[in-house]
Amino acid sequence: MPRKKRNRRIQVPPVIKGMSVFGVRGRKSNEVTLRLEEYETIRLLDYQHLTQEQAAVHMNVSRPTLTRIYEEARIKVATAFVEGRDLIFRGGDIYFDKNWFKCNSCQASFSNYSADTSHCPVCNSSDLISLNEFYGQSTEK
Ligand SMILES: [Zn+2]
Repeated sequence: MPRKKRNRRIQVPPVIKGMSVFGVRGRKSNEVTLRLEEYETIRLLDYQHLTQEQAAVHMNVSRPTLTRIYEEARIKVATAFVEGRDLIFRGGDIYFDKNWFKCNSCQASFSNYSADTSHCPVCNSSDLISLNEFYGQSTEK
């Protein structure tokens, strides 16, 4: 029986569900799926310039586990770039640090530390979706 993986903490969810290729006409892209913990390693290491030790703390994993996730993420991103394939952000053994919401009217994303989460803080719409549902994740701590 496989050992149950401990879930990795995601602080900020991706603002989009993926990226599609540009300049390729009439060809269906064979997409590459980047798991959300893989996305998070790239965000923390390459975008925020944290060390691997710092990123491991942020994601609540060991440093070797962080390195393994990051290597897999880089291979997938490189594959998408070189082979011209869409990148989809989906799945993963993760939980969000806070409850994040996305506004279906203006597409803003926000977390619920503000007092009122029944309306979008940007456009005041009440058409909100939980990002846990958006990415098909359950919330667990
Ligand atoms: Zn809005």
